[in-house]
Amino acid sequence: MLISDSLVHAARVRPSHLAVVDDRISLTYSHLLERVNRLANALREGLGLDVGDRFGLLSANRAEFVEAYYAAGSSRLVCVPLNYRLAAPELSGIARDADLRVIIVEPGFEDVVDRMRESGLDCPTVRLSGPMGEGEYEALLSRSSAAVREEPAADSEPVLQIYTSGTTGTPKGVMISHRNTIANGWHMLAEGATTREDRHLTTMPLCHLGAGSRVFLNVHATATHVIHPRFDPERMIIALADGTADTAVTVPAMLSDLLAEARRQRASLHGKVRRLLYGAAPMPQDLLTEALSTLGCDFQQTYGLTEAGPNLTVLPPEDHLPDSHGNHPSRLSSVGRQTSGVEVRVVDRDDAEVAVGEVGEIIARGPNIMEGYWRRPEATAETLRGGWLRTGDLGRLGEDSYLYLVDRKKDMLISGGFNVYPREIECVLEIHPDVIEVAVTGKPHERWGEVPVAFVVAEPGAGREALESALREVCGSRLAAFKSPKSYR
Ligand code: AMP
Repeated sequence: MLISDSLVHAARVRPSHLAVVDDRISLTYSHLLERVNRLANALREGLGLDVGDRFGLLSANRAEFVEAYYAAGSSRLVCVPLNYRLAAPELSGIARDADLRVIIVEPGFEDVVDRMRESGLDCPTVRLSGPMGEGEYEALLSRSSAAVREEPAADSEPVLQIYTSGTTGTPKGVMISHRNTIANGWHMLAEGATTREDRHLTTMPLCHLGAGSRVFLNVHATATHVIHPRFDPERMIIALADGTADTAVTVPAMLSDLLAEARRQRASLHGKVRRLLYGAAPMPQDLLTEALSTLGCDFQQTYGLTEAGPNLTVLPPEDHLPDSHGNHPSRLSSVGRQTSGVEVRVVDRDDAEVAVGEVGEIIARGPNIMEGYWRRPEATAETLRGGWLRTGDLGRLGEDSYLYLVDRKKDMLISGGFNVYPREIECVLEIHPDVIEVAVTGKPHERWGEVPVAFVVAEPGAGREALESALREVCGSRLAAFKSPKSYR
């Protein structure tokens, strides 16, 4: 099965049901299918891309993400969603690594593209529509055929290539295929993560698989996908309160902002939301219990990672319910159990399963696990050793198979739901001539979960304040804001 099969199915059984709604357009399933076919033909014929070529998408959330993800599948191309929060040199590094043939760009990011060109980008761009009118994207679509592309493909062919950094400091492209997204979609449907009546709200960046996988899941379920360009707690509350949307995915930092905004507005969301999913970073228990009583809806936690396509475990709504004394079960501090279709184990250094309750590395296998890292056979072989994905997370399994995350083996911190790899920041700081040695680590932060802190050994005579401000400037121009150290010691 290919991803286009599920879109064709949705358009056949619910042609006039709303598929995608953003700030500019509303598309029914039949309209979405037509635009996806046009884009697929435009990419292959209009722009001349060949099977296996990569194209980028640099934009805040909007309906075209759904079109681009499905058109990649229908045209045997690979979409590389670019995280717009990254700095221009980081983005050009990714564009170079992926050999991007073209980048679809939202108006407003032209200056980023100009700076990417200064750091070596030399591929054409296609502009999306914006306040100033229609872009080349719409013109391309209207010139292209709406016929379905009849080209056999293997379900192991990648559809998305999503970049995650790592301990080497260089981002790697995680290849997610048709079968990976379809499997993840079925697993999450089996866990009840969505229903065909859902109006699912996305406010998290669709370039990240935590939110991006919902694109496929919603189509599998023939649900409606409501897309906000960015997380804006005020708008999110309105959309949930007035029934525009009834399910959403959040990360802890967002949930905390959402509750604060609801208090500020004195808005009652109680009973308005059907289900709230959360994950991506450790959830503070106080925040979760406050959210449970404020929202009074089903909560579902997921744990996973980009390489897993992304979901591995689920903590279902019933495990969030208090007992008859009003106490929440201890399993609320777990990330739940393996989803249907996925096997999760905890192993020691020799890959032997550890006893129940003992800590080891979490490994997993299933049809949702990535095909590999683009052009990095060694890293792929290491991460998928023996057919099991090494998550780099440390955890323990309870008697009842609930998984508890304990720590991370990989050198990584999570700030506001985004992964930050200290090595990547150290590589940037080390370039400064007054830096002898540097180590970056995470420190707990009430709002963001963790923030990066840099420990620097400076050349004798280097002025402390001058060096700190020079390092802040270097990080500001070369790294995304969420990666820049918040303090220097
Ligand atoms: P990413 O590849 O960006 O999705 O990040 C994956 C990493 O985020 C995992 O390896 C975990 O360290 C962390 N993570 C994902 N889900 C959870 C969760 N529910 N609770 C705590 N940490 C999580």
